[in-house]
Amino acid sequence: MGRTYAIRTFGCQMNEHDSERIAGLLESDGYQRASVLEEADVMVLNTCCIRENADNKLYGALGRLKAVKAERPDALIAVAGCLAQKDRELVRERAGHVDVVFGTHNVHRAAELVDHARRHGPVVEILAETVREDAEAFPSALPARREAEHSAWVTIQIGCDNSCTFCIVPAVRGPEISRPFGELVDEVRDLAAGGVSEVTLLGQNVNSYGRDLALSRRGSANGNGASAAGDDAWWCGSDWLSDRRARPLFADLLRAVGEIDGIRRVRFTSPHPKDLRPETIAAMAEVPAVCEHLHLPLQSGSDAVLRAMQRGYTAERYLARLRAAREAVDDLAVSTDIIVGFPGETEEDFVQTLEVAAEARYDSAFTFIFSPRPGTAAAEMIDRFVPHDVSVDRYERLRRVIERSSRLANEARVGRVEEVVVEGPSKKDPSVTTGRTRRNTLVHFGSPPGGVPPTGTYARVEIAAAAANFLQGALVDIEAPRAAASQASSGRRLIPVAVAAT
Ligand code: SF4
Repeated sequence: MGRTYAIRTFGCQMNEHDSERIAGLLESDGYQRASVLEEADVMVLNTCCIRENADNKLYGALGRLKAVKAERPDALIAVAGCLAQKDRELVRERAGHVDVVFGTHNVHRAAELVDHARRHGPVVEILAETVREDAEAFPSALPARREAEHSAWVTIQIGCDNSCTFCIVPAVRGPEISRPFGELVDEVRDLAAGGVSEVTLLGQNVNSYGRDLALSRRGSANGNGASAAGDDAWWCGSDWLSDRRARPLFADLLRAVGEIDGIRRVRFTSPHPKDLRPETIAAMAEVPAVCEHLHLPLQSGSDAVLRAMQRGYTAERYLARLRAAREAVDDLAVSTDIIVGFPGETEEDFVQTLEVAAEARYDSAFTFIFSPRPGTAAAEMIDRFVPHDVSVDRYERLRRVIERSSRLANEARVGRVEEVVVEGPSKKDPSVTTGRTRRNTLVHFGSPPGGVPPTGTYARVEIAAAAANFLQGALVDIEAPRAAASQASSGRRLIPVAVAAT
């Protein structure tokens, strides 16, 4: 066996997607994946400073790897991601046994930097920003080693132009840069040709997709850039050009991607509530491939707290957009993110969050107790920090409200037949199959006689029971495995089965 690598990922979906790219780059460079981090020749820690305790987790893991490095000095340790971007030289100051440090703007250099460290010793390379012209800087433009062959993430935009006071993303990922429309459509077409049937469009604020492209195009038109022909080639692949709008909308992208032969599920994360446009809702309602699931981060139900967070909407505006989405999109599932205990949050503020959460009837929610991220404005609001025991109490009360609506939403599915895409065997019982509905709900069901079907198989499952976080059911039929590219959504062959509900 040649040289090996392993990656531990600490963060969000964007971060996990970066890890896929780092894996793809290292594999293109001849490395093979090791299953145990400590046994690999290259040990990569891909960090994320959005999640709580990122520093502790990273430096704790590096502390444990110190003994490995002492035993195998030729093995390399690399630290990547948001925390590396933020801490820069500090990573090597605190952990001198680290060989490579690179940030969020130069993921595409992972293999080169590892090679450099092997030949010349430790290297720290943190770029201040992504260079637009450097197409490789976009994670999706790099080779990837996907975890599931039927499903792929596609980065449509990196960075963020907002300034939510609790969030470190603008500081570590930089301003928004959108990928050219035609390039994205081509990428999804290639993925579909390779057997992918489900794509998730990724961006920090997908609804502002294209805003920067308009500015850049205007720059080109003023004589700073490409010729008209070259410029249009860069933008190609959409109808929006013909109707003379200034830029492509996210809705145009949903429509273009949803029409690609072989793509049966389109998901996206996340739209900012202030930028959720009627066009996006219309595209969700009208494009069959776009899944009936909207992740719409609320963060707080109090207007005072939303102002302090600099979120740019009120609770009423948020609810109005949610109502519009529910009215337009049949059977829509809604999930959210909520922070409790933001600096200055009063009991009255929190009760407003409970009220909005109850009215929103979420199918699921990621709830967090506020924890200050160094480098953000909220981290400076020390005199307004909410005592931890108060936050814990609020967190528990919110959890109960969310759990109630999740349970009710799931119970309403009992008796229905749902389309489920198989993810693999259940973690608790490997004889049981687990998959996801279009509404992104986890479903466990009895496997067919041949055992758990291959990951990515489409099945229909009759729902027999519901809990707050998952459904259980009985398999009705499964589709014959799909040959890459050739099988569009029509003409599917169904294999009926009869098995008991789990
Ligand atoms: S929209 Fe706000 S929370 Fe989301 S990435 Fe941008 S700054 Fe952070």
